[in-house]
Amino acid sequence: MKIQNYINGEFENPIEDNWLENYNPAIGVVYGRLPNSTTEDVEKAYQAAATAFLSWSQTTLEERSKVLSKIADLILDKIQFLAAAESKDNGKPISLATEIDIPRAAANFQFFANAITQFSSEAHESIGMNAVNFTLRQPLGVVGCISPWNLPLYLFTWKIAPAIAAGNCVVAKPSEITPMTAYLLGEICTEAGLPKGVLNIVHGLGNTTGEAIVAHPNIKAISFTGGTKTGAYIAKVAAPMFKKLSLELGGKNPNIIFEDCNYEKMLATTVRSSFTNQGQICLCGSRILVEDKIYDQFKKDFVQRVSELIVGNPSAENTNIGALVSKAHLEKVKSYIDIAEAEGGKILFGGNKVVVKGSENGYYLLPTIIEVSDNKCKLNQEEIFGPVVTIMSFKSDAEALQLANDSKYGLSATLWTNNLNRTLQFSKQLQTGIVWVNTWMLRDLRTPFGGQKDSGVGREGGFEALRFFTESKNICIQYE
Ligand code: NAD
Repeated sequence: MKIQNYINGEFENPIEDNWLENYNPAIGVVYGRLPNSTTEDVEKAYQAAATAFLSWSQTTLEERSKVLSKIADLILDKIQFLAAAESKDNGKPISLATEIDIPRAAANFQFFANAITQFSSEAHESIGMNAVNFTLRQPLGVVGCISPWNLPLYLFTWKIAPAIAAGNCVVAKPSEITPMTAYLLGEICTEAGLPKGVLNIVHGLGNTTGEAIVAHPNIKAISFTGGTKTGAYIAKVAAPMFKKLSLELGGKNPNIIFEDCNYEKMLATTVRSSFTNQGQICLCGSRILVEDKIYDQFKKDFVQRVSELIVGNPSAENTNIGALVSKAHLEKVKSYIDIAEAEGGKILFGGNKVVVKGSENGYYLLPTIIEVSDNKCKLNQEEIFGPVVTIMSFKSDAEALQLANDSKYGLSATLWTNNLNRTLQFSKQLQTGIVWVNTWMLRDLRTPFGGQKDSGVGREGGFEALRFFTESKNICIQYE
């Protein structure tokens, strides 16, 4: 299976004819190849985007809305096909790709198809100064979108949809580890009638293709989702060019559980927030903090529930935990489990790789629960990004809050309680961009999404994304 770049509405090989291998993590074999694009490919994509911008930026909102809606419809029409492709490329269970990833990719286009028709510029009458100000929100031009491997089409489209809705043209790069559904999106855009050059998809490695996008002098903004270290590097490259930057980075999210919660709902949700997508979601609650009064009970029940999860080939309908995305990632995650004991941790469940019958070379790991007693340990401070959670107990609200905030990350937090005062105190004081109370990963696409501290800069979602992808220009008119 050969993946090609999508430039100016055409599929083409990389100019230098260099290729990378694409793995199926469920069985550990190469099943295709993808371009290892260079600066020249990115330049070609940029030129196509810059030309398309002249007309795309002048289309009416209704025209843009219509084509975005059409893309959404086509994604839904092909849901089974796309879900199977995503599952094969990434290792995620087919059920997850069908229920979450692909519907959300469609929802991203549909949401911004609607949102752009409601996005308007502001006016300020300067009373007493005989002046009126109005603020135009104009598209930036050509923008760059770079996404990671964990939710491939879901996160790729989360950037592209608002960018093109706002009138920009895009040079985009999916992760080289999961390029397949981004490739298929090119076909869908053509079928939907998206004009040539509005979206250009260039495949390749981060430090070559990705960096060529970030360093391109005329690409005006970079919307990036990925690791914190990569984000810091991108910020360094982009800063001297004063590019607009949106950085959605890593997390080490606390899941704070109080005795007064709805226990059954908490338990079921905590299994999900720990291990959905093999724990490879930036929002997973990987640090579970439990009030001491229910700690022993929780430990017993949680281990029992997790032991019921089925680790298996992602294409099987009953699989709960599929394969990790790559061999290198499996080894990285395993290396954290291997230091658990030295760090004073106790493995309560899991800890080992799994050999799945018929898929012996796949990258499988048991869901793993490690009991820790010190939040300063690496297991609690570093992002593992796999099916590994830690649990520890706390005695008071103050201690829970201190532990939750004792992290360089600040993406999301989950709180389980029915106490209103506590809910509001924690909501105010948690140093995260998102707080879920008595739920997890419930998403309303109008809300601001993003992190504090090392989890990133800027917010995506709703009008925040449309503001990011536009430049505001104030016009002040004085009258006599
Ligand atoms: P990564 O940083 O390795 O790669 C992300 C993307 O950036 C890939 O497309 C990669 O090719 C590209 N890239 C790498 N180096 C680059 C460079 N020098 N210049 C330009 N582009 C470059 O991240 P990953 O391993 O693909 O994804 C996992 C990380 O993403 C985790 O840390 C996770 O928490 C984070 N993440 C964050 C969110 C969020 O919304 N905050 C969502 C999903 C994943």
